[in-house]
Amino acid sequence: MIDFQSVLNAINDDASNVKERGEIADYIPQLAKIDVKHFGIHLIDSQQKNFSAGDSHELFSIQSISKVLTLSLALNLIGEDVWKRVDVEPSGDPFNHLSLLELENGIPRNPLINPGAIVIADILVSQLEHPKDDFLTFVRNIANDDSITYDESVAISEKETGFRNFAAANLLKSYDNLNNDVEVVLDFYFHQCSLSMSCEQLTHVFYMFMNHGKCRRNKAYLTLSQVKRINAIMLTCGFYDEAGEFAFEVGLPGKSGVGGGIVALLPNKFCVATWSPGLNPKGNSKIGMLALEKLTTETELSIF
Ligand code: GLU
Repeated sequence: MIDFQSVLNAINDDASNVKERGEIADYIPQLAKIDVKHFGIHLIDSQQKNFSAGDSHELFSIQSISKVLTLSLALNLIGEDVWKRVDVEPSGDPFNHLSLLELENGIPRNPLINPGAIVIADILVSQLEHPKDDFLTFVRNIANDDSITYDESVAISEKETGFRNFAAANLLKSYDNLNNDVEVVLDFYFHQCSLSMSCEQLTHVFYMFMNHGKCRRNKAYLTLSQVKRINAIMLTCGFYDEAGEFAFEVGLPGKSGVGGGIVALLPNKFCVATWSPGLNPKGNSKIGMLALEKLTTETELSIF
């Protein structure tokens, strides 16, 4: 039996000693206010035992991690038709990149880069009666936690400075790959990014990706084939232009966000989330990556 708690304690001790903690994502002014010293880690295993260290219960902005959840809901609603509007190839582009190369004839390279996530947001806006409320309910139900909510101040802050996302949405519109108004789709997108969660809550939502699509209460939200696809996309596209490095160092499917969160999982074994708001030059949490590298090295558990 692996003593996850001891491993997490050691990771937390190491994390508190790191001096160079990376840079906060200050392009969203509301995120710039967060103290770079935070570190939290939470792990849930396949028996639903929970292990925590550091600031694992503090809320933070999950940002791009939400893209995995909107993709899941879109697959729920329209199934394989999702892939008519977005591709599944890694882009190898930085987190804030915007170029025509991200779009092949108006089809974004994958659902985890911004243009791809904006197309997924457009699908949800078309399909749902009350998109923001319905998406929130979906996430709350998976986690069995009604306290999860949007951080309006982050959503507003991002809307005020989201010029690149407006550009991406307009570009998609020009290619006829956006059916709703740019403003409406981006209002949804900025809200999904503003979802506020702790490491513990994130593992409770992402538990289903390591548990054959079933949440902790054993309710199925995704088919086996959908889980396979989403985990594959996380592995190949979940870390901006550092997905190769993450696979190399950590060896787990996962997703990061510019709020400094990372969630990763080993099918049938565990789901883990870390939070440390300082980012490395590629936009991934610097200490989060070190922590997960230590976790999979010490426990010798990875998909490889
Ligand atoms: N809301 C952020 C943006 O669109 C998400 C960035 C991220 O976490 O990758 O810029």
